[in-house]
Amino acid sequence: MESKKEHFKRTLLDLSERKDLVPGIYNYCDRWCERCTMTQRCLTYLHEQEVKPDAEPLNPDEKNKNFWEQIRLAWEVTLEMLEEDADEKGIDLDEVAAFQMPEHVETPLEIRARNYGTDIHNWLKQHQQFFETKAEQLVTINDEASMIKYQDAMEVIQWYGFFIGAKVHRAHLELKNRQNNPDDEFGLYADNLGSAKIAIIAIGRTMDALSVFYSAFKEMEDDILKFLLELSQIKKQLLKTFPGVMEFKRPGFDD
Ligand code: SF4
Repeated sequence: MESKKEHFKRTLLDLSERKDLVPGIYNYCDRWCERCTMTQRCLTYLHEQEVKPDAEPLNPDEKNKNFWEQIRLAWEVTLEMLEEDADEKGIDLDEVAAFQMPEHVETPLEIRARNYGTDIHNWLKQHQQFFETKAEQLVTINDEASMIKYQDAMEVIQWYGFFIGAKVHRAHLELKNRQNNPDDEFGLYADNLGSAKIAIIAIGRTMDALSVFYSAFKEMEDDILKFLLELSQIKKQLLKTFPGVMEFKRPGFDD
């Protein structure tokens, strides 16, 4: 009988043989698998389906237990595969010099993008009652179309709230070194560009969603306008910091 770890590893290796999957598609996506149009070409998604429990856990503790088990299995299997690769190549991992992560100093843009995430999260929480009341009113008058429109907008704003800051941060890692390296033997700058591009896409979608609220809720106009302005400035600065970023082709999505 196959153990959970063996199952995790075998299904991963089987999927990695499939030619119809797009290599690296999960690197510059928005990780919103429920809304993704490329699930059947994504190794990450298909593997998660393979290893998830047959039935949805009944309670949050069970759900969290499964979550941590998947994380543990992923680490164990990754380490095991790394050791196997090193063995094949005759590399002794114990002798590899300890890798020093270069120190990263956060840029003002990263701080701004991170703060946006916290601010929008707090703002939505603070006005939860307002949005709930609006939703109840729409139910009362049977306006399903508006209900769906606002729900969709809310989901988009929530999904990308912290995502934008995380991607802006990633886009700045080792940025100076990579931008000033004309050889870029390993194509490392592509990671900065891909991260910046998905951050810009997320900003665009969030601004569209905020505009839905802006035109519907006069009471919230000033707050929403502030968020729109902030996002617009973050986007402008990203386009300036990463020249040509929108031409970057994200595997599977832009080619
Ligand atoms: S590419 Fe799509 S399915 Fe794959 S991880 Fe990203 S959002 Fe999820």
